[in-house]
Amino acid sequence: MEKIYDVAIIGSGYGGMLPAFKLAHAGFNVLLIERGRIWNKEEYQHSLTLEYLNQIYDIATSKTLGELYRGSKIFGGGSTTNDKIHQRTPSESFDYEEEELHGRRAWPKLINRQVMDPFYEELERLLSIRQISWNEVSMIGGNFARMFNDAGMSAEPCNFNIGPNCIHCGYCEAGCGREGTAKITLTSALLRPALRTGNLEIITEMSAKTIKPLKGGEYRVELVSSDKENFNSSADKLIFANKVIVGAGPIGSVPLLLRSKRYLKNLSPALGKYVSNNGDINFVLKTPDHYPDHYGFKSATSCGVITYGYWDKYKKTIHPGMIPIQVAAGVNIKRKGELPWGLGHKHFLKDNVTHRLIPANGMGLVPADMSIGLDFNGKASVSNPVSKGQRQHIFEMEKILTETMNEVGGELLYTGDRFPFDLGGNHILGGARMSDDPEYGVTDPTGEVYGYKNLYVSDCSSIPAGLAINPAHTVGANALRVAKNIIESEGGRYEKN
Ligand SMILES: Cc1cc2nc3c(=O)[nH]c(=O)nc-3n(C[C@H](O)[C@H](O)[C@H](O)COP(=O)(O)OP(=O)(O)OC[C@H]3O[C@@H](n4cnc5c(N)ncnc54)[C@H](O)[C@@H]3O)c2cc1C
Repeated sequence: MEKIYDVAIIGSGYGGMLPAFKLAHAGFNVLLIERGRIWNKEEYQHSLTLEYLNQIYDIATSKTLGELYRGSKIFGGGSTTNDKIHQRTPSESFDYEEEELHGRRAWPKLINRQVMDPFYEELERLLSIRQISWNEVSMIGGNFARMFNDAGMSAEPCNFNIGPNCIHCGYCEAGCGREGTAKITLTSALLRPALRTGNLEIITEMSAKTIKPLKGGEYRVELVSSDKENFNSSADKLIFANKVIVGAGPIGSVPLLLRSKRYLKNLSPALGKYVSNNGDINFVLKTPDHYPDHYGFKSATSCGVITYGYWDKYKKTIHPGMIPIQVAAGVNIKRKGELPWGLGHKHFLKDNVTHRLIPANGMGLVPADMSIGLDFNGKASVSNPVSKGQRQHIFEMEKILTETMNEVGGELLYTGDRFPFDLGGNHILGGARMSDDPEYGVTDPTGEVYGYKNLYVSDCSSIPAGLAINPAHTVGANALRVAKNIIESEGGRYEKN
């Protein structure tokens, strides 16, 4: 007889590990399935070479090959490889109204910032998230804050899941060699206590291929060995569970549900639709000549500050320095009207790159009008039409950044070809979103899939619309909310940590 788990959870990032931790503590018999393996901290490298990054990131390209979309592919998901910014989403983002919904709110009507606050609080405790002090902000972050201050706007240190042993190397995106005492990840903080309950088992290096509902009401999950890197091969292992939680992340969950459509025939037509890149754009700012030099990105993280200076009027946030400027320099920086090569460009970079330029990332409320389909290996293929709504955001960003830089004597540098800016692919949201209406969302507001009792989606793909801010904290808080609903629907008590 095959074992039937109470709950099988797919993915060990924010959407998977947090429910696994809570459900194991609440007495459910849980199996956590993760495509990647658990890395030893000694294995992480101070490296951003493609060869190294390919070991820790899964990458999907857009159909136009214009953008790259990244998700983590090791145990702990994005918490092991992201930049650690954990900001609560401003309340207005939950009220974002969508044209497709005839001007109605994209989020279910009962979910708002007040509902999310207790879960944000809990995640802050679980991951030791705190606002860093100005002393911990990098010089590059200090110069960024000063520019916005000079333009009459505020900037503040971000909130990070950071412990006392950070050596300020800034390679947060490459995984942390001091994981657990510098970067507090889901693996370092939650895995051991969850295993100690005796209720959690884990399977690593296997990927969920499909989910099938069985006649008795339980589900069968087909797994394939992750090293096959495609989903056309036959299953290597079968798992049975009464409940399944899909938490396979930005480019994992939607393909998994699409591959399962032959078994889950009643999935909402919204599957694969309503995807947002969170309005991500990447650009570079040059500091005014009278500012002091900054050096690289050394700090408790690679950036350290965020400005809400454009929030009230434009609903946009900006933070500096996701990647070392040396890497950004190799990409595509150019001055307005100039080319990213040639002698003039070379001298400009030589004179400015390490101590006067600031790579930065902006986000804003854009329509969730991208989509995710399957490629020939059964993996994610992302389509971004860069619609009118997205263009409006991109050019509005260009306008307000240009005005701000002109005011303070700085300079906005461009990174894009088709558009002024490179469009980021790190904060992808939606595709299996929750909604009050099964026509426009895959799950109900509790995260349960419409038409399929006991099947849930708990990760970034369930987030209904862009947030205009770094999403991990909201994805995690929502995953805790989904776990609470599951525990309480079975008559259990949700104990806050
Ligand atoms: C470089 C980078 C930097 C970022 N920095 C920040 C930041 O500073 N702040 C912020 O708020 N956000 C940041 N993000 C985004 C943030 O990390 C994600 O929004 C968040 O991790 C999403 O959580 P998730 O649980 O949905 O997915 P993930 O955390 O990615 O977890 C999904 C997990 O599922 C696994 N998986 C996928 N498919 C399968 C399958 N078929 N079977 C089994 N397992 C599977 C994956 O290996 C992964 O471990 C960053 C993202 C990137 C790429």
